[in-house]
Amino acid sequence: MEPYELTAHELAERLARKELSAVEAVESQFARIEAVEGRIDAYLLQTRDTALEQARAVDEARVRGEALGPLAGVPYAAKDVLCTNGVTTTCGSKILRNFVPPYDATVVANCRAAGLSLLGKTNMDEFAMGSSTENSAFKITRNPWDLERIPGGSSGGSAAAVAADEAFLALGSDTGGSIRQPASMCGCVGLKPTYGRVSRYGLIAYASSLDQIGPLTKDVRDCALFQQVLSVHDPLDSTSSSDHPAPHYVSALTGEVKGLKAGVVKELMGEGIEPGVQECVRKAIAVMEGLGVECEEVEMPHCEYALPVYYIIAPAECSSNLARFDGVRYGHRTDEPVADYEDMFAKTRAEGFGPEVRLRIIKGTYVLSKGYYDAYYLKALKVRTLIRRDFDRAFGRFDVLLSPTSPTVAFKIGERVDDPLAMKLADICTIPVNLAGIPALNVPCGFSKGLPVGLQIMGKPFDEETLLRVGYAYEQQAGWAGRKPSV
Ligand code: GLN
Repeated sequence: MEPYELTAHELAERLARKELSAVEAVESQFARIEAVEGRIDAYLLQTRDTALEQARAVDEARVRGEALGPLAGVPYAAKDVLCTNGVTTTCGSKILRNFVPPYDATVVANCRAAGLSLLGKTNMDEFAMGSSTENSAFKITRNPWDLERIPGGSSGGSAAAVAADEAFLALGSDTGGSIRQPASMCGCVGLKPTYGRVSRYGLIAYASSLDQIGPLTKDVRDCALFQQVLSVHDPLDSTSSSDHPAPHYVSALTGEVKGLKAGVVKELMGEGIEPGVQECVRKAIAVMEGLGVECEEVEMPHCEYALPVYYIIAPAECSSNLARFDGVRYGHRTDEPVADYEDMFAKTRAEGFGPEVRLRIIKGTYVLSKGYYDAYYLKALKVRTLIRRDFDRAFGRFDVLLSPTSPTVAFKIGERVDDPLAMKLADICTIPVNLAGIPALNVPCGFSKGLPVGLQIMGKPFDEETLLRVGYAYEQQAGWAGRKPSV
């Protein structure tokens, strides 16, 4: 077995026993990347020198006998939405093609402090807007399980990298499903933490009331270990919570779930969910019951409005967030002759932003404008509250809620680019979670048509621990972890 095939915790154990050095782990990882990246295209940029330098520092610290964190020396990849000091950060957009941040996102700084080595920046839909990674301004990433298919999105590069053994761990961001949905389609574990659990400082904002950074990993134990590194209060993000110190996540991985109560969301188990996906999820529920989890159907009547609500709130916030890309402060500026400032802004933005981003800025500007604000934006906020109350009510009775993560398996490249509704339906199961601000975990739960299917486990605010507990117990019992695509 090559080192790159190991999970992060297996690698970490070998590093701790000095059977392998961190530099050797990085070298093994880049040999793998060299071998398969031509077919997958998960990375926008590889940072080999940085990775080797960080690995060397860990090896030296280990020789000196310094106390190291549990993931010290493990290489990871970061979605290109995260600022990396001195390393180009494009957010999948031409407008930031040459942007080199002068600082690290807090999560990147935390990874550095924990001794992880940065392998590179992964491909994504431009500004995280999309469900297939096809909106990247730079390249198409392919699903390691079938190279004709999309890896999901918008964190498709991170999911494909983990699934193809091109990274032990990866960071993604999730505004409406962008960690969980690609994790589901690529057969890896993905966690969207509670809003406020992980600092968003240095995350290039899409929709600030929904965005959250989280891990994509090979199994649940890796997810628990990685989430520990990320769950740190940050004074640089005013929404980073200081009231909920992170528990020791790995301690929750006992395999013991007897007596827990799970609600199966009725609205996410019927129409619109592919039969093959439904079947896998039903089998997963049966496995849960076998473990002693009490499963029962629960109604979430406002879930059906989640998609329209999201597509008002997210564009509204993005139209405001993306106003900063004006050719003055960041990134690209037009070379065309311009009449005045406004002309310069307009030409710069028309050249820099792709069609999906422009469409969302226009929609967002529309729903926030005088006369439409009350009819659209304010109404959407009210329905968002109703969705949140559905969850509050359900969590009065249940410890976790269950549903599919994605209504279908990965679709073919190009299949939905001209069908925006079909594309948006890919997030129908994940979007309610962001609107409510709660955490949710994707765990692989089988295959349909030879492609991975994911189970979504949703939890109470700041109760990532229970998600990991349930996800781990299921994973151990079901045995899907460790299945790999032949790339
Ligand atoms: N696919 C959804 C969108 O396009 C969600 C994306 C995300 O979570 N970043 O907005």
